[in-house]
Amino acid sequence: MARFDLLMQRYGYAVAEVVDGVCQSCNMSVSTQMASAIEESNDIYVCENCGKYLVSFRKKEKADENKNEKEKKEEKPGKTRKSKATTAKKPRKK
Ligand SMILES: [Zn+2]
Repeated sequence: MARFDLLMQRYGYAVAEVVDGVCQSCNMSVSTQMASAIEESNDIYVCENCGKYLVSFRKKEKADENKNEKEKKEEKPGKTRKSKATTAKKPRKK
């Protein structure tokens, strides 16, 4: 299971993606040091501004792009699944 999924499972929606050193939750830049550490290691960092757990897909996406370009130029569009985006919160009974 992907690290992001694990984090989502464990922390729910308190997880934010970092793209180009910018937290996608609050749009504040994290320190470059931290951003590169997030990309290069499996350590968990927390956004200093919004307090969410930071993850990065950058490394993975890059690798996939290169792989796809080299392996086959004609890429068939995959099945488009409807993502269940509205299931983040479950109503709690008290
Ligand atoms: Zn943030």
